[in-house]
Amino acid sequence: MTIFAAMNSEQSTSFDERARALDASDALRSFRDQFHFPQKNGRPALYFCGNSLGLQPLRTQELVDAELEEWRTHGVEGHFAARHPWFSYHRIVTDQLAALVGAAPHEVVAMNTLTVNLHLMMISFYRPTSERFKIILAGSEFPSDRYAIESQVRLHGFDPEHAMIEIEPFPGTSTLTTEQVVAAIREHGPSTALVLFSGVHFFTGQRFDMPSITQAARAVGANVGFDLAHAVGNVQLDLHAWDVDFAVWCSYKYLNAGPGAVAGAFVHERHAKKPDLPRLAGWWGNDEKTRFTMEHRFDPTYGADGWQLSNAQILPLAALKASLDLFQEAGMERLSEKRDRLTAFAEEVIDDAIGMRTDVRIITPRDPMQRGAQLSVMFDTNGKHIFDALGEHGVVVDWRTPNVIRITPAPMYNSFADVAAFGSIFRSVLGTTV
Ligand SMILES: *Cc1c(COP(=O)(O)O)cnc(C)c1O
Repeated sequence: MTIFAAMNSEQSTSFDERARALDASDALRSFRDQFHFPQKNGRPALYFCGNSLGLQPLRTQELVDAELEEWRTHGVEGHFAARHPWFSYHRIVTDQLAALVGAAPHEVVAMNTLTVNLHLMMISFYRPTSERFKIILAGSEFPSDRYAIESQVRLHGFDPEHAMIEIEPFPGTSTLTTEQVVAAIREHGPSTALVLFSGVHFFTGQRFDMPSITQAARAVGANVGFDLAHAVGNVQLDLHAWDVDFAVWCSYKYLNAGPGAVAGAFVHERHAKKPDLPRLAGWWGNDEKTRFTMEHRFDPTYGADGWQLSNAQILPLAALKASLDLFQEAGMERLSEKRDRLTAFAEEVIDDAIGMRTDVRIITPRDPMQRGAQLSVMFDTNGKHIFDALGEHGVVVDWRTPNVIRITPAPMYNSFADVAAFGSIFRSVLGTTV
């Protein structure tokens, strides 16, 4: 055994020991037992993919089954006769969602899916004029967001080439600085209609300074919205106090509400009662008092509920409710505190596994304030082989072309022991142990 390998194996034992102690003192450790873990090689997987699809809570089936039972029992009359009447069913998650994103209940709604909500919000909050028509966004943004933005720009007769301002990292770096983002907003200020940022960037895992970006956008007279796909349930949010105009998110990543889950939207209360604000309307956004009288004139209901189009997706909402109950019980404050410790531990374990290799590196910011749970590891070559080898050893992470593995220890269900076990496997597939 070389001296280096001996050091490594000692290090690995000490990670295991530290993990045991950290798990023993973790107040949230029992939440892990509330989730189904997929099996790999006859054992529960080492699952680090909560940034892509969160695990299924045990209670999801019970709550979904309960609504299937209501449907069997009541048929159409379930709209009013069900224990939680479907007429107002979307509101069973309102208070919990509001708490999660830092909003008043009338500022949030669970509806549709993420990209649909992004379009609905842009119809209302991207109102370009010949002077103000630009949208500022982070570079290398998630394709769906770029497609949505580009198509909205074209819808209004503008050229994406000039209207989309994508802020790229400085050469030799992977992430943005707040100063850089704020400077871009000031530079393009008078011609900017909308600043549309991620809360946490899907590729790098960088958490952006949402309050500063909001302040800068509002100072130049632009609207500001956030895509919280990778932020909700991951980092603490305070959308109302930050004065954000709108936000959208999906619920199948950190929120564990299942594939194709019902998404969410936030609309600041200063827009709650603006019947003339352009929007794409549907009957479920109409004032409840006249919804079923089938009036000809659309009369939007107060707040974010007024952006609903269709009657609520009861089964996905039941799944979302099962998950939000767990978030309420655990609390974002405790989850955030554990997240920082768990991710810092993962960072240490990954750095140790990388050892002397210079062709592999963590590109997620080192500063806990600039990240959530996810760590993105970039490979100069051969990353896909490492990813495949991890899979063979029962590790579930994800591969993002061209060269990144995303590893996300979710504080809701991952343990420190999971992270230590991942470290040993990562070390062996990287070839930094013998
Ligand atoms: C996950 C994700 C999406 C996915 O959009 P859907 O409409 O839910 O399919 C879009 N944008 C971002 C930034 C994401 O992280």
